[in-house]
Amino acid sequence: MKYSLGIDLGTTFSVVSIIDENGIPKVLNNAEGKTLTPSVIYFGDDEIIVGDGAKEMQAMGDNNIACFFKRNIGDENYVLQFGEKYYNAEDLSVIVLKKLKKDAEAFLKCEVSDAVITVPAYFNNLQRQSTINAGKRAGFNVLSILNEPTAAAIAYGMKDIKDKKNILVYDLGGGTFDVTLVRIEEEIIKVLSTDGDHELGGKDWDDRIAMYIGEKFFEKFGVNPMDDVEYYNDILVKCENAKKQLSQRESTDINVYYCDLKEKFTITRDMFVSLTGDLLQRTRSLSEDVIKSAGLFWEDIDGVLPVGGSTRMPMVLEFIREVSRKKPITGINVDEAVSIGAAIKASMENKNSNDKVMFTLGGYKKTEDVMSHSLGMVALDSQGKKYINSIIISKNKKIPCSERRPYQIRTGKNRNNVLEVYMLQGESEDISDCTVLGKYVFYDIDYVGRKPSVIDIEYAYNKNGVAKVSAVQRETGKKLPLKIEKIPENFKWDEELNEEEEIVHKNVVMAIDLSGSMRGTPLKEAIEASKTFID
Ligand code: ADP
Ligand code: MG
Repeated sequence: MKYSLGIDLGTTFSVVSIIDENGIPKVLNNAEGKTLTPSVIYFGDDEIIVGDGAKEMQAMGDNNIACFFKRNIGDENYVLQFGEKYYNAEDLSVIVLKKLKKDAEAFLKCEVSDAVITVPAYFNNLQRQSTINAGKRAGFNVLSILNEPTAAAIAYGMKDIKDKKNILVYDLGGGTFDVTLVRIEEEIIKVLSTDGDHELGGKDWDDRIAMYIGEKFFEKFGVNPMDDVEYYNDILVKCENAKKQLSQRESTDINVYYCDLKEKFTITRDMFVSLTGDLLQRTRSLSEDVIKSAGLFWEDIDGVLPVGGSTRMPMVLEFIREVSRKKPITGINVDEAVSIGAAIKASMENKNSNDKVMFTLGGYKKTEDVMSHSLGMVALDSQGKKYINSIIISKNKKIPCSERRPYQIRTGKNRNNVLEVYMLQGESEDISDCTVLGKYVFYDIDYVGRKPSVIDIEYAYNKNGVAKVSAVQRETGKKLPLKIEKIPENFKWDEELNEEEEIVHKNVVMAIDLSGSMRGTPLKEAIEASKTFID
């Protein structure tokens, strides 16, 4: 059988699943015999270790470690050096993906290349493209990119829900928080709205314990072990373990030895809750934004589906119960749901899948997803005074989708006529709050005489949530070639504007009465008058 993998490429842990020959989802074991592979890489002198081995080296205080790099994927300025080599987050993801591929092949005893890789729903264009690249570079045929909460909803939705339900997927992982509202119907799973914070996750809970310990240690001894990089990692690992223990019991101890000084700290659940209460409140406001943007209220939510390792913390479940006034949904493995959902999607997308799988996956539903970022372009504001983000496709619109806008440009006879479009992702009118995707330059625009040429530009999100822009010259019907250029980091939009001060862009709307009484000379005069006005 030809398998397709569902890969949850997590910030802290990665998980790989398949749909087996009987149509049953199965989570694969890695070479260490475990289902969770830490997304951690150790760079030794002559070897690179990924997963548990790397995490052990980290716990021992070794600094040749890369972790949490998913937070920086798509960011060119994030570069780590190990030995003589430099790595960006995409390079590091390739290393993890190669290990996942190798282990899956060893487990399944056959080669696999087709895969669906999951990403946080709020990943922007650069982050999605970089993830697709990483998959390709690791040797995968990336069938699609799937939003993690949608994947979790697919795994849950497979359980044959007959009645219509609004489910809030609450995914609190190691470094990220993702919240998505889905409507599960008999045949379809529709994502209604989604949001998230990529700087909020279990690690922040660990950090709070570490900060507390550092401060107390300092109060007593006048030194803070957290200021020492050698001990920093070691203490963080201890704090993460303590956090996990607090999911089982009421209190736990952390022993810190530093510079011949020794102290035992007892952390209780109550202390832990008060150290981290504001973090939970941040998940609350994001959840409420998502519900509100779908035009719903908490009362309309039939259940909250906890996903991600951090939802094992009892405070999270209590919090969900309190805000939703309902018991959180159980019965789904919080670590595995995302990769299982991806495997279901992969096996449905893969045309080579056999009919038996299709048949057994009877509970499978179609999915409809949305993007969590609006797609816009740089445009002049209505006064022509400053550049703003003009939104073309609003967030939470069903994908794939597209919008077309006409532009007029004057063409010259013996020159390369080009049209430049600056694409953005973000909600704010202020460009500095948005992610600039690039400068899209359409060239080879044909000369069409004195009157301006009309270029129809189509903006689109494809099924992976990747932005696409294309243009057609209306007079010639020609699809224009495109090159995407990078914009320098310190590009100043408004300086550019000052240089071109004499050009004032204006929108003019003309209305001409076309009723019967205008027939003949009056209409001709009206058309002449508008021409004179334009001149
Ligand atoms: P990601 O999707 O970001 O890779 P996961 O969903 O795998 O993350 O969750 C990892 C996080 O879950 C880590 O911060 C880890 O410490 C936390 N975690 C795992 N098990 C527990 C537990 N029993 N109690 C509390 N937190 C846990
Ligand atoms: Mg996750």
